[in-house]
Amino acid sequence: PRIEHIRNFCIIAHIDHGKSTLADRLLEFTHTISEREMQEQVLDDMELEREKGITIKSHAIQMEYEFGGKTYTLNLIDTPGHVDFSYEVSRALAACEGALLLVDATQGIQAQTISNLYLALDHDLEIIPVINKIDMEGAMIDEVKEQIIDLIGCYEEDILLASARTGAGVEQILKAIVQRIPPPEGDPDAPLQALIFDSMYNSFRGVVAYYRVFNGTLRKGDKVKFVNTGREYDADEVGILRLRLEPRDQITAGNVGYIITGIKSASEVRVGDTITLVNNPCQEAIKGFEEVKPMVFAGIFPVNTEDYEELRECMEKLKLNDAALTFEPETSQALGFGFRCGFLGMLHMEIVQERLEREFHQSVITTVPNVSFIAYTTKGEKIIVNNPSEMPDPGRLSRVEEPFIRAQIITKPEYIGNIMTLCLGKRGTLINQHYLTPTRVELIFEMPLTEIVFDFYDKLKSQTRGYASFDYHPIGYRESDIVKMDILLNGDKVDALSALIHRSRAQEFGRKLCEKLKELLPRQQFQIAIQAAIGSKIIARENISALRKDVTAKCYGGDVSRKRKLLEKQKEGKKRMRQIGSVEVPQEAFLAVLKIN
Ligand code: GDP
Ligand code: MG
Repeated sequence: PRIEHIRNFCIIAHIDHGKSTLADRLLEFTHTISEREMQEQVLDDMELEREKGITIKSHAIQMEYEFGGKTYTLNLIDTPGHVDFSYEVSRALAACEGALLLVDATQGIQAQTISNLYLALDHDLEIIPVINKIDMEGAMIDEVKEQIIDLIGCYEEDILLASARTGAGVEQILKAIVQRIPPPEGDPDAPLQALIFDSMYNSFRGVVAYYRVFNGTLRKGDKVKFVNTGREYDADEVGILRLRLEPRDQITAGNVGYIITGIKSASEVRVGDTITLVNNPCQEAIKGFEEVKPMVFAGIFPVNTEDYEELRECMEKLKLNDAALTFEPETSQALGFGFRCGFLGMLHMEIVQERLEREFHQSVITTVPNVSFIAYTTKGEKIIVNNPSEMPDPGRLSRVEEPFIRAQIITKPEYIGNIMTLCLGKRGTLINQHYLTPTRVELIFEMPLTEIVFDFYDKLKSQTRGYASFDYHPIGYRESDIVKMDILLNGDKVDALSALIHRSRAQEFGRKLCEKLKELLPRQQFQIAIQAAIGSKIIARENISALRKDVTAKCYGGDVSRKRKLLEKQKEGKKRMRQIGSVEVPQEAFLAVLKIN
């Protein structure tokens, strides 16, 4: 296609406002997907996305649309709405010139409507505001129009009305995309510059990279070079993204496509890298993406210690499709070799663990998550602590700082009381309270990140019956009374169960953890003491009394085969146990911690 006939756009909105459903209607209207292939939220093709009903990955797809006697090529990128995946959104935006900003007519503007809008404005995108779900009984079209005009300063006529369910307004949206979003700029004859914005591992094809061509043309068979890694490859296949990959002879400036190069190792492809030609290279790489800052850290270990290398390969492959995941090797006395991983939040952590299990068939143990702290030693050294084992001993420690965030909550006035109680209980301070309209209020709090990362979202939902939306941004580190709490089994420290925690929370957390472990540890031939400690001070304790009889005793001497079977069974069970000093700990004990709040 000629560059003036290309439009690149994404759909942004608060979660559940109908992005994926609108994408369905656009694909249907443009006959991109046949009736037979059509299903609800067709772009959410990952098993986990379908199960959870949420978009986790950005999904790019190309459509053709006839308008005014011309055929336009529209590249649509559907994006996730959850805070944990905003890095996916910001990369998608870099490939676009415009965005549909969708607002649910029954909900109005919500926290992520605003944060995603700001992301889009940062990328200078043309914004097309759309009020969705106008078919619903509770649609408040006039009120939501006012909110949108207030927020983006547009004219009332600029706002489109649609129903992604019935298809109303879809044609107007397509027209607006062609008329209002500018075509990409770029020179198809200049040296190639293509920005990689996503990639994935396919077990048959190897690494597939998705890119937006800014300048030049990428042809099948070209010798290409990845500018940042300096590596060279053959472009074995190039093409466009439809429901499946569709090969083409070339991808020209302004367009979005994929490349398959026979890359073997996942670590060679980096999101944000620029593809150019070996023979006619560009002068410089396109400015890539801002480095992601993980918010939550946890260890991931293979259940069977011998699967470490395999797990590493799988993590690298997963990282291809999840640029926000970071990891580095870590060793634990209790769990052996594994990885210290960084995540954008708890949902991200859960998704990574599930994808490792489902897509890569790895069984893993995840350890207690924590945020990143800064510790200063008495000698004035500054230490970044992403792992409880990195925290200096109390004797060397001068002070600790923890990350704070600014939380924005939009809700109905009747829930202010509950939200205040919740946030103050989470060590938060109210900074501002502001009525957007008589029935909608915005509350701003400053809170420790660690307090919102774990169960804040669920609590907020239940305290407001779902009538609160929430978004947050880091605002730096503040001094705080953070301690390292250890768990001891018969006096031996279990490093994988250590946690970094605010002193005011330690006692309760320690007690609950000891109780939980008491339930989970099998009785053994001797008494087991389970203790929670801060330094040398014990803050909680439980005992498991000794098992009195040998299990084989009841198979009186005679029946040898039965006795052997029982021993066999015990051995099987032991495989899934980890030996801590004298005590055997089942795998599930390491997971139990995650279920305590
Ligand atoms: P996303 O999180 O923004 O991608 O939202 P989804 O597309 O997954 O939609 C969330 C829910 O809203 C789904 O149950 C949709 O069926 C529903 N939905 C989306 N658009 C409309 C609409 O225009 N009208 C009605 N009644 N429901 C809609
Ligand atoms: Mg979606």
